[in-house]
Amino acid sequence: MSDCLFCQIVAKEIPAEIVYETGRTLAFRDRNPQAPTHVLVIPKQHHRDAAELAGADDGLADDVLKTAHAVAVQEGVAEDGYRVVFNTGPGAGQTVFHVHAHVLGGRGLTWPPG
Ligand code: 5GP
Ligand code: ZN
Repeated sequence: MSDCLFCQIVAKEIPAEIVYETGRTLAFRDRNPQAPTHVLVIPKQHHRDAAELAGADDGLADDVLKTAHAVAVQEGVAEDGYRVVFNTGPGAGQTVFHVHAHVLGGRGLTWPPG
């Protein structure tokens, strides 16, 4: 989708600080980090949200989750604990409609998030 911000990051048409990449996924730092580690993990293929990704019956959701964990290990936050969040739909705060997992860590994370 040429008008999708994250598809443009996949296509390297706009810059991002990429920290991890696999054949089907990409991980890059959030431009407005909410924690010392705040990385976005996306499938390279466009899906609008987690609900649509869950319906992609090809293991892609599994790949995104595995990349999220690999990022946490690489960032050194896996042992202390980290959070993986999919804001799904405007009511949950989703603003970019190319599904992305937020990987947050490196500080204490309260629950519930509000
Ligand atoms: P959402 O609110 O959709 O769950 O999260 C979107 C996230 O994308 C936000 O945390 C926002 O800071 C981040 N973001 C928006 N535009 C860009 C961009 O152009 N580059 C990067 N690296 N992050 C972005
Ligand atoms: Zn997209």
